[in-house]
Amino acid sequence: MLVRKAEFIKSSKSHAECPPPKKPEYAFIGRSNVGKSSLINTLTNKKSLAKTSARPGKTQLINHFVIDDNWYLTDLPGYGWARVSRDKRMSFMDMIKTYLETRPNLVITFVLIDVRHNAQSNDLEFMQWLGFKQIPFAIIFTKADKLSPTQLEANIATYEAKLLEDWAELPPTFVSSAHNRMGIDSILHYIHNLNQSVKD
Ligand code: GDP
Repeated sequence: MLVRKAEFIKSSKSHAECPPPKKPEYAFIGRSNVGKSSLINTLTNKKSLAKTSARPGKTQLINHFVIDDNWYLTDLPGYGWARVSRDKRMSFMDMIKTYLETRPNLVITFVLIDVRHNAQSNDLEFMQWLGFKQIPFAIIFTKADKLSPTQLEANIATYEAKLLEDWAELPPTFVSSAHNRMGIDSILHYIHNLNQSVKD
C-alpha cells in the first residue's frame, strides 16, 4: 500500500486555526527526537514533508497534511524538550490536549515511542490522560532497525508489561523503522481500514 499524494495544508498555533474538519484525521505525537518526522516522511513517501525538528521554538505548531485527497495526517509538536521552561511546556501541552479533546474528525492518535528506551513517565502519563478522556490511540514503536530482533522483542515485551500494570488491555501496537520501512505497510493498512469504517 502506497501513498500517492501528500500535500502540506497549514501550520496552526491552536485548534481554532486548524483546517475545517471535513476529512478523517490521524494525529502523530511523541517526545522530541522519537523519529516522528522520519516516520511521517516514510509513510508519505516524501523526503522532507515533515521537517526534522531542529529547535523547540520552531516545532510548536499543529501541521496538517492531506493524503491522497482523502484524509488528514496531523503532525503534532514533539513534547519533552528539556530546554523549554516548565510554564511553556505546560501551556503547549494544554494546546495539544485541547486539540485532541475538541477535534471532531480525529479518528485515532498515534503515540510514538522510541523502542530503544525504557518507558518514560511523560509518555505513560500522556497515554493515561488519553485513556481517561477516552481518546482512541495506538502505539507506534520507532527505530526498530537499531535493535537486534531478540533485543527488539525483549524491549517490546518489557514495555507492554509496563503498560499492563495500568491497563486492562493493550492498545493497537505497531513496530516501525523509517530506515528499512518495517511496519509502514501495516500502519497504512490500518489507516485505510479505519477510513473505510468511518465512511460506512
Ligand atoms: P522527531 O524529532 O521526532 O521528528 O525525530 P526525527 O525524525 O527528526 O529523528 C530524530 C533522529 O532519529 C534523526 O537523527 C533520525 O535520522 C533518527 N531516526 C528517525 N527514525 C529512525 C529510524 O527508523 N531508524 C534509525 N536508525 N534512525 C532513525
